[in-house]
Amino acid sequence: MSKLIQDHTSTTETYIQSIYDTVIKRNPGEQEFHQAVNEFLESMAPVIEQHPEYRQHAVLERLLEPERLVSFRVPWVDDHGQVQVNRGFRVQFNSTLGPYKGGLRFHETVNSSIIKFLGFEQIFKNALTGQPIGGGKGGSDFDPKGKSDMEIMRFCQSFMTELYKYIGSDVDVPAGDIGVGGREIGYLFGQYKRIRGGNEPGILTGKGIGYGGSLARTEATGYGCIYFLQELLSSRGLHLQGRRTVVSGSGNVSIFAMEKAQELGAIVVACSDSGGYIVDPNGIKLDTVKQIKLVEGGRIRDYVTHHPEASYHYGSTDIWSVPCEIALPCATQNELDAAAARRLIGNGLIAIAEGANMPSTLDAVHLLLDNDILFGPAKAANAGGVAVSALEMAQNSMRLSWSFDEVDDKLKQIMQHIYRDSVQAAKTYGFEGNLVAGANIAGFRRVAEAMLQQGII
Ligand code: NDP
Repeated sequence: MSKLIQDHTSTTETYIQSIYDTVIKRNPGEQEFHQAVNEFLESMAPVIEQHPEYRQHAVLERLLEPERLVSFRVPWVDDHGQVQVNRGFRVQFNSTLGPYKGGLRFHETVNSSIIKFLGFEQIFKNALTGQPIGGGKGGSDFDPKGKSDMEIMRFCQSFMTELYKYIGSDVDVPAGDIGVGGREIGYLFGQYKRIRGGNEPGILTGKGIGYGGSLARTEATGYGCIYFLQELLSSRGLHLQGRRTVVSGSGNVSIFAMEKAQELGAIVVACSDSGGYIVDPNGIKLDTVKQIKLVEGGRIRDYVTHHPEASYHYGSTDIWSVPCEIALPCATQNELDAAAARRLIGNGLIAIAEGANMPSTLDAVHLLLDNDILFGPAKAANAGGVAVSALEMAQNSMRLSWSFDEVDDKLKQIMQHIYRDSVQAAKTYGFEGNLVAGANIAGFRRVAEAMLQQGII
């Protein structure tokens, strides 16, 4: 911490530093959580100076301590009859604006640090959408790769057998994230219904269209990221047409970011999975990627057997060496470091919009901002998914379904609002042009004001 707070009075600096020191002390070894807090606190000095009441009421101190963190055992039986044990988590970080809301991640790297960094960022992202939702996140260190459908189902059933105690349509509403898509949400929902009886569609979002899901939820994070990118580009009179674009990952967010980018004329030349990346100089054929990733559950390297003009390269992080004007990190945290940022800048990068959560390291963020690259931070650029999840909750409450175009129009408007609010907050607090700070501040102010009104809780 330090870079962005150096112009502020030493008392504010000391206060913010002491808050950060407490976070480190109280959450030892949780590097991703520390990183997310660090990036957030870098934007806070002018806000704290202009609103002494936040300090007086310990708003930051309270925000940084989750309201609740549940960790639980998830035993399940694999196809060989062997008992397996995983760990499940749910962090209920902040409920000031509404029920806790945030996805579930199934990936072998999941631990309390990952869940807390995601849950913390979710508070501000959800606030930015303007919807009445608080921040939460959950998941498990279960690795879905190579598991049979029945193993996935048994795992999901065991996971929900514990999780159901803590969720509810007015309490906490989970959704998908890495490793949790429509299939997993279906199994989780089925088990919840079996345990509780009755039908409560509002307890999860990302459901199938046939049983309470919203049209355009699957597409929402990727599409929303491109809508945000359009706003960024148009601030300099630019557009996507003909721009060489690189998108990391080939999961839910990446695929629909590629789809909307292509629809708007971008030439997407590369995408990846955790094994490596493909380059197709004539433009990625998205139907092939969808077939491999969404239908066959295969690896991205299979693409070159269908399109021999494309090339496959081992190692996913080198994708940032592919020359492009637009980069969309849509895979995972810390996938774009300072060296990658330097390479991208050297190759003529104009803009980045973060589809993944915290995909850029803090050094990379500083470098990109210092080099005047248009930068759409995750909290703002990937908020489209949770925004449409909130629209799914609204449709469930009203027992009706909006058309694809209705939801897509609302999504576009929400992304435009988020952009405008972030630009305005950055300007008001002396960070003009820095949307990392703008998104942090716009989201924080909405939560902080409501926290003041609700008393010390
Ligand atoms: P998916 O599981 O659908 O896809 C993840 C993609 O990223 C896969 O291609 C995966 O490759 C790749 N990946 C995962 N880990 C790594 C790694 N360590 N290195 C390189 N590639 C990796 O997840 P989503 O698309 O849903 O999520 C992607 C990101 O977007 C995450 O950061 C998530 O938190 C964020 N996000 C998701 C939202 C949503 O609505 N789904 C909403 C907002 C943010 P492989 O197949 O090899 O594992």
